[in-house]
Amino acid sequence: MSDVLRSGMLVHGQNGQAFETALAEYLGAADAIVVSSGTAALHIALLAVDIGPSDAVIVPDFTFPATASSVSMTGAQVVVADVDPDTYNITAQSAEAAFDAARAAGHTPRALMIVHEFGTPADLEGLRAFAASKRMHLIEDAACALGARSEGRLIGSDALMACYSFHPRKTLTTGEGGAVVVNDPELAVRLRRLRNHGLERSAGQMRFVEPSTNYRLTDFQSTLGLAQLPHLDDWIAKRRRLAECYFTALESLVQRGALTCPRKVKGQSWQTFMTVLSDKLDRGLVMSALAAQQIEANLGAQCISALAVHNAICPPGLAVASRLYRQGLALPMFEGMEEADVFRVVGALEKVITDAERASS
Ligand SMILES: *Cc1c(COP(=O)(O)O)cnc(C)c1O
Repeated sequence: MSDVLRSGMLVHGQNGQAFETALAEYLGAADAIVVSSGTAALHIALLAVDIGPSDAVIVPDFTFPATASSVSMTGAQVVVADVDPDTYNITAQSAEAAFDAARAAGHTPRALMIVHEFGTPADLEGLRAFAASKRMHLIEDAACALGARSEGRLIGSDALMACYSFHPRKTLTTGEGGAVVVNDPELAVRLRRLRNHGLERSAGQMRFVEPSTNYRLTDFQSTLGLAQLPHLDDWIAKRRRLAECYFTALESLVQRGALTCPRKVKGQSWQTFMTVLSDKLDRGLVMSALAAQQIEANLGAQCISALAVHNAICPPGLAVASRLYRQGLALPMFEGMEEADVFRVVGALEKVITDAERASS
């Protein structure tokens, strides 16, 4: 940090550039552009392919609101697609239903923004093929998926654009921050100017070539990211062990039909471990009973179609996302946890659920 201060270059200086290089190298991608948040990354990724008010963009119905808000901020129409009940991810099939609903409403989506929800890789092969068949740009909201792998390859390594967040809730954090990882040099140039007032520098000249905003990341933040990146794989390995513990510890609750666990998918980074409670259980009661024992369990993500602010086009159905939003229960997961903590959490959960079942019978 004092290096940054002494250098006099507090923004996009040496450490900012070093963080971009390290990220691109880690992911095996051509380039990385650091920005001030994950939402900023999503926003400029859309702008870089000229998404605007005459466009429509498909997003999963079950995600953090920023996935849809970044679309709304461009003026484009949000179209939601339902998700798989076990991976919580958008699928080629649900994206197709969304596409058809958009067409019926007079819109032809020009981009498909997928989410690797909670660090579980989405079906990239199927989604890429579907996006290509409809001439849509595929943008990946990988905010939760830094270090996750799909078919052996790191997510982002072969993406058109993959967007990351370094918010404190994510595995690697710079306080606030984000990045767009990109494999097309022309898009990289556009992204760099979109994050910095539309400014292009070439041959010692400064030109403002389009109106834009300020989404820069400071070098103080990049310094935090640079220091953490070498530890990321160890942290993910730890999370994978903790997830295995959860699967073992939760088995009897699954057998009893009290909850379901997420599907195991190769390459998951386990940003979040979200179970889904049976409809017979009141999630609010379960969360507050756990909170009384200093165990913080949370709802996993939001349901975009339930947020009136986006005025989204919805295909018929959408039953899965709204159920995950209502009954999803994210259990504690961070690399500082130990396996014994997992068993303590699940022990407390078992007791809370047994009490709730008794009270309602
Ligand atoms: C965290 C998150 C974001 C937003 O990132 P910020 O850095 O908070 O702006 C967007 N999408 C998903 C899926 C996220 O989990």
